[in-house]
Amino acid sequence: MECRVLSIQSHVVRGYVGNKSASFPLQVMGFEVDSINSVQFSNHTGYSHWKGQVLTADELHVLYEGIKLNNVNHYDYVLTDSHISSSVQLEQCTWALCETLEAPRPAPGDRRGHMVIELQVSHEHRRLRCCALSSVLAGETSLVHELSFIITLRGEESTEMGYTRDTSFLEMVVDIVQELKRANPNLVYVCDPVLGDHGSMYVPQNLHPVYKNKVVPVADIITPNQFEAELLTGKNISTEKDAVEVMDLLHKMGPDTVVITSSDLPPRLGDRFLVSLGSQRILMPDGTRKTQRIRIEVPKVDAVFVGTGDLFAAMLLAWTHHYPTDLKTACEKTFSVMHHVIQRTISYAHEMAGPGRRPSPAQLELRMVQSKADIEDPAIVMEATVL
Ligand code: ADP
Ligand code: PLP
Ligand code: ZN
Repeated sequence: MECRVLSIQSHVVRGYVGNKSASFPLQVMGFEVDSINSVQFSNHTGYSHWKGQVLTADELHVLYEGIKLNNVNHYDYVLTDSHISSSVQLEQCTWALCETLEAPRPAPGDRRGHMVIELQVSHEHRRLRCCALSSVLAGETSLVHELSFIITLRGEESTEMGYTRDTSFLEMVVDIVQELKRANPNLVYVCDPVLGDHGSMYVPQNLHPVYKNKVVPVADIITPNQFEAELLTGKNISTEKDAVEVMDLLHKMGPDTVVITSSDLPPRLGDRFLVSLGSQRILMPDGTRKTQRIRIEVPKVDAVFVGTGDLFAAMLLAWTHHYPTDLKTACEKTFSVMHHVIQRTISYAHEMAGPGRRPSPAQLELRMVQSKADIEDPAIVMEATVL
């Protein structure tokens, strides 16, 4: 049976985020993928420079109308990424950091003699942990000096940072999902409800209620990180029990499948691992409901990858399609794909950067095409525990 996905995500000319991160792996797995590019950028926003266009809610509507006029608006899945909302740009964070450091802002295109700043993913939520890397050679960043400290981003500041969206694009996505669900009540909406966490991304507070009250209620599968799960439910996660309660609250909001992609919970396998949790609510043939909850620990790699969240959501879509009532297997397959792609990416990045050098964003682009065989048939490298 043919399975068709409508994927509303970012497009980048170079590299792998959004649709570039999701289409190829889904197609390799036999899905038909119809893509709408919510933005078209030269590259992801973690590079020193990026250029491009942002699709408006009206433009999204026009594209959908075209599909509808031809009566081909029949989908089995809808998949959306983070950048259907908005983000704080790395450049603005860099400026904020320069101000704090009382260092001059780097002029666009000129890195010579300036301080180059790299933002890193932080596990201290709501805050960005920044590392300042001094650089002397044009275009080359070398780790001469590392400074770590915290800046706190406030909601008001974030609205003046980078490209921002009002709530209309997100609301248009919800309208489209609802209409597609009326046409196909079995349609599954897979959503990465991005509100924050990643060093370079932060969604203004005006979008939080839209996610909470409109997007999550129509979603069937969500992949928040811990911070996002906490924001959506208003409950903190300090223990596994808290996480289970948060996932139960998320089920009550709508989605039958919830995977918390990363958390601060202490790993059983040691501090070089990352704990993820999942929960799936299943309707049994006798009409009762059963919830399967799992925990999985994956080896942490010391680098910031971009596009991994989007690849994760696409792979979870594919593997829950094959194992709709077996979250344990679906997660083992999904996390194993992530592991293979990330390992191939980090090995290549280190090889390209050379000994002792930190790989650049370009060198850290996911090795997607090279991972084709692992995507099609991942060797299972981690086992999930049923809670
Ligand atoms: P999100 O955007 O939802 O916060 P991430 O991109 O941080 O998600 O991560 C998605 C998945 O990618 C994680 O669950 C993990 O499997 C994998 N991943 C991302 N970064 C790393 C890393 N540094 N080390 C190991 N796995 C990673
Ligand atoms: N889309 C765009 C345009 C981006 O710039 C980025 C990250 O910089 C992403 C998507 C990727 O997000 P993630 O790493 O959560 O998959
Ligand atoms: Zn993400």
